Amino acid sequence: MRKTFAVLLLASSASPLFAAPAIPPILTGVPTAAEINKRCDWFASESERQRTALEKSTGPATVETTLAAFDKLGEVIGNGGGEAGFYREVSMTPEARAAGEKCEVRMSSEGTKLSLSRPIYERIKAIKGPADEPTQLYLKRVLGAFERAGIALDDAGRAKAQALADEVSNLNTTFEANIPKGQRMITATPAELDGLPQDFIDSHKPGPDGKITLRTDYTDYIPVLTYAKSPELRQRFYREYQLRAYPANDDVLRNLINKRDELAKLVGRPNYATLNFEDRMLNSPQEVQSLLDQMNAAARPAAERDMEKKLAALQKLQPGATKLEPWDNAYVSRIVQKESYGYDRQEARNYFNYDQTRDGILKLTEDMFGVDIRPWNTPKWDKLVEAYEMYDHGKLIGRFYFDSHPRDGKYEHANAVPLRAGVGKTIPVAALVMNLPAGKGLMEHGDVETFLHEYGHLLHAIFGGQDQRWAYQSGVATEWDFVEAPSQMLENWVYDYDTLKGFAQDASGKTIPRELVEKMNKARYFSLGMDDMAQLGLSNVSLQYYLQPAPADLGAAARASRDKYDLLPPASYSQFQDAFGHLAGYGAAYYTYRQSIVIADDLYTKFEAKGLRDPATAAEYRRLVLAPGGTKPAAELIEDFLGRPLSIDAYRAKMQKDQ
Ligand SMILES: [Zn+2]
Repeated sequence: MRKTFAVLLLASSASPLFAAPAIPPILTGVPTAAEINKRCDWFASESERQRTALEKSTGPATVETTLAAFDKLGEVIGNGGGEAGFYREVSMTPEARAAGEKCEVRMSSEGTKLSLSRPIYERIKAIKGPADEPTQLYLKRVLGAFERAGIALDDAGRAKAQALADEVSNLNTTFEANIPKGQRMITATPAELDGLPQDFIDSHKPGPDGKITLRTDYTDYIPVLTYAKSPELRQRFYREYQLRAYPANDDVLRNLINKRDELAKLVGRPNYATLNFEDRMLNSPQEVQSLLDQMNAAARPAAERDMEKKLAALQKLQPGATKLEPWDNAYVSRIVQKESYGYDRQEARNYFNYDQTRDGILKLTEDMFGVDIRPWNTPKWDKLVEAYEMYDHGKLIGRFYFDSHPRDGKYEHANAVPLRAGVGKTIPVAALVMNLPAGKGLMEHGDVETFLHEYGHLLHAIFGGQDQRWAYQSGVATEWDFVEAPSQMLENWVYDYDTLKGFAQDASGKTIPRELVEKMNKARYFSLGMDDMAQLGLSNVSLQYYLQPAPADLGAAARASRDKYDLLPPASYSQFQDAFGHLAGYGAAYYTYRQSIVIADDLYTKFEAKGLRDPATAAEYRRLVLAPGGTKPAAELIEDFLGRPLSIDAYRAKMQKDQ
């Protein structure tokens, strides 16, 4: 999930203060750099115009005037920033992607200018009079955000805070943009592809020199590491993968950590992590550390059992082997799944082609939530992009794009990008940017899970973007450590036979057998312990980096932080931190995925009890958890749905399921 707004996630609603021009629709077709620049000029000048007007406004400060104008301005900045990041990810030319990058930095700077505006802060603080609970929460959160940005500093201090925040956003964007640019390639002989699925071999023909080119994006990397029998090929590919964006991002990351540290100290915090966590459910480094400790205690015994099973399987392949290497992990895990649980990933793969999976995911939403999804006839930037509209009892409630397949220079992971916050009469618009095979191309079961995960963010943006008074509270505007929970919970449905039987069919039209899904369910808990320990390791990297200025050797520090948890730490030459994109946007808070999984497991208990496809439970979930968006603290959303406070018990129980 991308959060589109760095400092203050702000908003819209009709404001009597200015007659604000309507925000133009997003650029589709094939936007050029010149069009993106022009568009960015509009957003930046509109932001400046509204900011100046709000600074000069007089008379009593009220929710209806002052806060409404503030929210409108935030909507301009939020939508402008969301679009800019989107153009950086999906544009068709390097020039247009660079224009998106540049605009992202500009919009972030507009956000910082707003959050350092003393006159606006004073106006917001002066708002008196009755306000409903969501509005009170809004005021509280916004005043906190002003304070964290450095509003209490004198003029020189605020100028310094602005300069540092601008540098941070510049470094953030550069760090993220360097990752796809830092893509690497290796070549392999046709014989080395032994073990890979036939459709992979067919789509990777040797060049005139007889060699096959493999790129370090997921569509090549995951299948090769999972299926290639040749340990040499896997090791060679792993090595390149660990060096993506290195050394290009090394100085960028060092500066990023140091500037954030400086900024945190300028606003009176001991380190950036402390500043970064203040508006979270877990709002201090100590609380985050305590979460990591609790999860470690639950996951480590499971991880140790996983490791034993994997090592035993490796020893069958390589008698005398004493140690599992990182490039063996996926390959050996697949063998254990097949031999100990009877689950063959390659067999499952035959049932998941892109087109049917997409239709199945759309149908699942229609069944669960009673909505209709129809094609949206609108210009697109690439012929493979798809567009849809969502209707609820005949009423249009959202629009979205799927940009699902790899292209040169495109964003290389999967994410959901909110493009328009749903507020007042404005309909939410969002996009999924992914890298999946196209058409009848076969997907791993894990790809189906990723698709549904990202789609979960999109649903949150749409369901949480109805009838909202404030753009600031629309859609995914909850605390960051809750944001992943709805998506992670939805991942469970790709293990549900009743869901899969609707779309998982092989090339001959045969539906996925129930026994295969049962085996998949038995195998799903295997390696969960090791996988979660690896994630705790990454969370620790993100936390430790931001507790002080940057260490001299970033790679060594990252590997050491990861080693504390990960049972299979990266090789000594790894520089994975340079391609760890979350270190930019998420800063110290990669742990949010871990907190969200604890929440997701807990929320899921209710569906498990009432039935995954029970419409009443789904409706209640939509009404109590998704629809409120950011109008309530996340802890209350959880309690409203479960009837009790959040508990880690469901996560603990999950870690016991593979014995
Ligand atoms: Zn996500």
